[in-house]
Amino acid sequence: MSRTPLIVGNWKMYKTIPETAAFCQEVKGEMVGLDGKQVGLAVAPPFTALNTAALALRGSFISVAAQDVFWAESGAYTGEVSPKMLADAGCRFGIVGHSERRQYFHETDDSVNKKAAALIKEGLIPIICLGETLAERQSSSTFAVVERQTREGLKGLAVKDPERLVIAYEPVWAIGTGQTATPNQAQEVQAFIRKFVGEIFSFPMAQGIRILYGGSVKPENVGELMAMNDVDGSLVGGASLDVKSFAKIVRGSISR
Ligand code: PEP
Repeated sequence: MSRTPLIVGNWKMYKTIPETAAFCQEVKGEMVGLDGKQVGLAVAPPFTALNTAALALRGSFISVAAQDVFWAESGAYTGEVSPKMLADAGCRFGIVGHSERRQYFHETDDSVNKKAAALIKEGLIPIICLGETLAERQSSSTFAVVERQTREGLKGLAVKDPERLVIAYEPVWAIGTGQTATPNQAQEVQAFIRKFVGEIFSFPMAQGIRILYGGSVKPENVGELMAMNDVDGSLVGGASLDVKSFAKIVRGSISR
């Protein structure tokens, strides 16, 4: 089955509202000639600039993703943002479980699962991030960790359409370090995740779901990563902040 590649730019805590508007105008220009049948594309600005991005990208095939969400619909949760608010701001996707949130903000497999379920309930598409730390890889725990994060993160999710759920395999040791996983390292873990998704959901679900790779993806290495059977796109941090490099990554992801 052919899966349309998906490239998501995770901006982390970078870019103001004017910077977001300028980036979105430029990226639309860079994508002229491409359409959503060839590649799915999303940018994930900080909360403050989500609506700016959505308005600037309206009418294009480029979507907006939030970098996090809270699972409640509304309530006394100071500082939090609900799925409904993200939909209201114009988001299509919500990233959950990014390793920086697991590491600095005490995100757990359980909270990741609740957030993913809440996004689905609101009609948004979760991008569930998971991946092992360096210590876990060195102690040969990669598959056990990834299996646990997949099982717990996907527990009870009401998804039948594989397009409505995305997984991002992001080895923590590769995020923001310049040390990309080799294509074979990405492939072997992502094939494992896909097989496991089949056990949790169904074979067609496993075949259709997009599993992204994240961790120091750049224009120079995206081609070899995308050549792998189970790499369906990328979650890009640093290299997504520059329009030209982001556009090169997108174009380098298409011809697999
Ligand atoms: C990320 O933030 O998800 C990420 C993969 O970052 P980077 O591309 O900078 O390693």
